[in-house]
Amino acid sequence: MKYLQVALNVSANQTFTYANVPAGKRLNKEEVAQNELIPQKRARKVDSFEAQVGCRAEVMFGNKKMTGVIVQVFDELPQDLSFDARKIRKILRVLDQEPLLTPELLELGRWISSFYLCPIGEALCSMIPGAKKESESGGFLSTEADSFEGTNVLSDEQAAAVQGILASPEGGAKQALFHYLYGATGSGKTEVFLSAAQKVLERGQGVLYLVPEIGLTPQVVEAVSRRFGNTAAVLHSALTPAQKLSEWKRIIKKEARVVIGARSAVFAPVPDLGLIIIDEEHDSSYKSGNSPRYHARQVAMRRAARLKIPLVMGSATPSVEAWKAMDERQFVCHRLTKRLSGGKMPIIAAVDLSLQKMNGSISLPLEEEIRDALKEKRQAILFLNRRGFNHIFRCSACGFELKCKNCSVPMTYHKAQNRLVCHYCSYSVEPLRVCPQCGSVDIGYSGFGTEFIESEVRSKFPNARALRLDTDAVSKKGELEEKIAAFKKGDYDILLGTQMIAKGLNFPSLKLVGVILADTSLHLPDFRAAEKTFSLITQVAGRAGRFFPDGKVFVQTYSPQNPAIFCACRSRAAEFYKQELDMRRLLNFPPYSRLLRLVFRSMVPPEAEAFASDAARIMSEELDKLKAKHTSGADVCEILGPSECPLSKISSNWRYQILLRGQSVAILQKLAGTLIYGFRAKEGVYIEVDVDPVSLL
Ligand code: ADP
Ligand code: ZN
Ligand code: ZN
Repeated sequence: MKYLQVALNVSANQTFTYANVPAGKRLNKEEVAQNELIPQKRARKVDSFEAQVGCRAEVMFGNKKMTGVIVQVFDELPQDLSFDARKIRKILRVLDQEPLLTPELLELGRWISSFYLCPIGEALCSMIPGAKKESESGGFLSTEADSFEGTNVLSDEQAAAVQGILASPEGGAKQALFHYLYGATGSGKTEVFLSAAQKVLERGQGVLYLVPEIGLTPQVVEAVSRRFGNTAAVLHSALTPAQKLSEWKRIIKKEARVVIGARSAVFAPVPDLGLIIIDEEHDSSYKSGNSPRYHARQVAMRRAARLKIPLVMGSATPSVEAWKAMDERQFVCHRLTKRLSGGKMPIIAAVDLSLQKMNGSISLPLEEEIRDALKEKRQAILFLNRRGFNHIFRCSACGFELKCKNCSVPMTYHKAQNRLVCHYCSYSVEPLRVCPQCGSVDIGYSGFGTEFIESEVRSKFPNARALRLDTDAVSKKGELEEKIAAFKKGDYDILLGTQMIAKGLNFPSLKLVGVILADTSLHLPDFRAAEKTFSLITQVAGRAGRFFPDGKVFVQTYSPQNPAIFCACRSRAAEFYKQELDMRRLLNFPPYSRLLRLVFRSMVPPEAEAFASDAARIMSEELDKLKAKHTSGADVCEILGPSECPLSKISSNWRYQILLRGQSVAILQKLAGTLIYGFRAKEGVYIEVDVDPVSLL
């Protein structure tokens, strides 16, 4: 008899002991009877594979059937078993012929569990595709590699970058493994990534290529597919779990050697991995919003360091952390300074809205530019990071502002549906005719969104063909890609939308980009607000003038002197990063400190608050102990809060937070660990743990 340790996606941070069933064997009657919880008919039908570490097993846990990962196989039970051996149940079956998780990935899962403070089973189960069976539809890519497709001769800068990235690190130092490719949009970064990937492939090694969102970076996926054909696997978010599993099996069998995908592709089981690429490193979608709240960059750094392989990140707007790491030579920086796509950096003009007489959301100077572009039969993109028609409903008589009944956020008016909608929980109501507080009819809407701009564009430019793209306008799978392709082809003159259109797009006949309100992200209570604003303007600007020398960008703002906007409009990146880093140092925010955020939520506000206070006390006692023992880093560790979250209520859950701040992340993890593994929250109170949080809302 063999025994197995199985990791299951449950809240306990432990694995569970089961007895194996022999491969290929169906359970006999007695065995079925022994495990009376298996429905009898089903149980007799199942076939099982040989149990190997890294394979998935189906087991009964309590009275639930669950799929877990086998983390250990042993012949005899340990002497000091802490429970009655007769209670050990048999697994139902082993699902995989070959392990899905290699020893390297199992180790990575253990690291995720300890670094991000989540149960081991949750970590491992979040890494693998969530399907039991492979899809019948087979391989996803049909394109053959086309060696005739012109590969560009690399420029000197590009060639030097490829060489630098692939040069074997001296003495295997960790520092020499992390590379950063810094260059504007169109400076040829993708070309460097592809060449480096090609070289690694020729050495017989595999490549992992991460992009923020597959649907928004069609040209990168296209380029990879064209270059590598069937040796590529695309872990598309539109794949069903079964298709994803098929792709995983192709990767494991070494049929696919270049894997491109979004955040979770960082766990792809690439054998002999030789290079990890992270495109658009600054993008916040690399951080997971659910537990485990991992950052793909952090995970990739860990993978690369363990395997001693190079990791190359790239962006036109590095994150502030990455900038500092380049300054301090923890990342080797490779600069691309020329715009290889032709064209040059566009003219960026800030329009100070406080000096404009506004009729709607489009100022006169921007309106004139749009007219010019249309006259020349060229295209324009208008960008605003806010959906809906209006997002503030306010009573002029008493000042009442309508907020969602479940969340502490204003409701947004959506004209198409004629409803007020909450963007956090989707609660909606009919538009109000009178103020619910004072009964006044002197009520109004303000604060515009993309729907508003669409109607303004249609009335100001009735002959232009306008296309709106945001999550409300796109409902079907593939619709976004289709619409973007139609715009690229020239079926539309004006494209307007949210950040959906700000990423990775390139349009040959684009002349003008208008940022409707650059300030939207500036005033959020978040220490990354300036960074986000700077990066957004710079990224959006990069799209214009990509192919033409006369591209223009108009940035409308009420704060033209704000450093983020000022520097972005003048392409003064170094100046912005320096100022921002100085500010962060002054305020002791990352990258000069590490943060760990704990959010306590409950439907009953006093309970969340009470537990948050208990938690702060528990951790502060622990911190005192660590200080008494002179644990390194304990003296500079702070426990901030508890306080209400800036978004104090979401979906009827009241939210309180504690921020742990220090120089060493290990101390923060220790404190949070003491709390979440040592104390049970009251029924109905939930704790979210976020190590290195990206957002503090
Ligand atoms: P980025 O990823 O930095 O935005 P790309 O790699 O997509 O830039 O390159 C932008 C454009 O320049 C593409 O159309 C690409 O084909 C072209 N390009 C890149 N490298 C070269 C080169 N060495 N010679 C000529 N054209 C190039
Ligand atoms: Zn009122
Ligand atoms: Zn809501």
